[in-house]
Amino acid sequence: RLFVLASFIAASAMRVGRLPEPGQSLEASAYTFEAGGKGLNLAVAARRLGAAVDGLIAVGSDPLAALAEPALRRAGLPPGMLRRFEAQTGAGIGFTQDDGENCLAVFLGANRLLDAASIRGAAEGLAAADLVLAQFEVGDAAIAEAFRLARAAGRPTLLNPSPFRPIEAGILRDTAILVVNASEARLLAAALDRSGADEAALAAALRARGPDLVVITRGAGGATAYPAGSAPRHQAAFPVAAVDTLGAGDAFAAGLAVSLSEGRGLAEAMRWGAACGALVAMRLGVFDALPDRAAVEAFLAA
Ligand code: ADP
Repeated sequence: RLFVLASFIAASAMRVGRLPEPGQSLEASAYTFEAGGKGLNLAVAARRLGAAVDGLIAVGSDPLAALAEPALRRAGLPPGMLRRFEAQTGAGIGFTQDDGENCLAVFLGANRLLDAASIRGAAEGLAAADLVLAQFEVGDAAIAEAFRLARAAGRPTLLNPSPFRPIEAGILRDTAILVVNASEARLLAAALDRSGADEAALAAALRARGPDLVVITRGAGGATAYPAGSAPRHQAAFPVAAVDTLGAGDAFAAGLAVSLSEGRGLAEAMRWGAACGALVAMRLGVFDALPDRAAVEAFLAA
């Protein structure tokens, strides 16, 4: 069972010939509006891989909040994960150019209001989880309290610090598994005054501050796990025709987390993460592209 500190973002995406320049308005050729958010992606991805998933997800009190419950139900996630706040629901607006280049902005709204009290209200679920997952579309107070309770109950934690901000010392100390992409690794190195250090040295510096395992992903360049006490383990990316890599990192983290929570070894878990990332990269969008367990098994067997 996984406990996910999730996030909810009502996501609008427009397809345009060229990204708008400052001052420009232009006509979009396509538009989608769907439930999203890194934390929701993680929860949905883990559920599709067959894990039992519990957790928390915050929405506001505006019309956008109504999207959340049907999205959870469709995904087979417990509606009891929902928490409502007097606030705006998180929302994101993105533009994708025809060649795939994109830009987006996210307003976190209610996601920032999950607090230590909300976490304590879910303490039972947390303490019963095989693994507690968090990402940075929720505030530090909620993550710190969730990880503190998880560690006190002897449960491992996984942090994907995206969208990036510096990681509080207490959160890093209570993180067992840290999963970052290459750009987040560079920002972490700068925050630790280790810009220019090689990856292994950065991973060691991070492990000295808490995690037992640091995983750095590099898109089509694959991913490397740096575990405490044994040699680094590289996992090549699967050679696929990528059309849209949005969400690959979320899928990778979910695949890794589900495998590890099932007691598989690190090498197998890295393979599952890479398969999930590759399968998402092969399809447009995120939510519908997240693979189920059968798809991952078929992909790995091929
Ligand atoms: P993020 O989305 O956080 O930036 P990455 O782009 O590093 O994360 O992708 C995470 C993982 O997904 C990679 O380590 C790789 O295994 C897989 N992946 C991402 N892009 C591709 C791709 N173009 N082809 C195959 N696998 C990919």
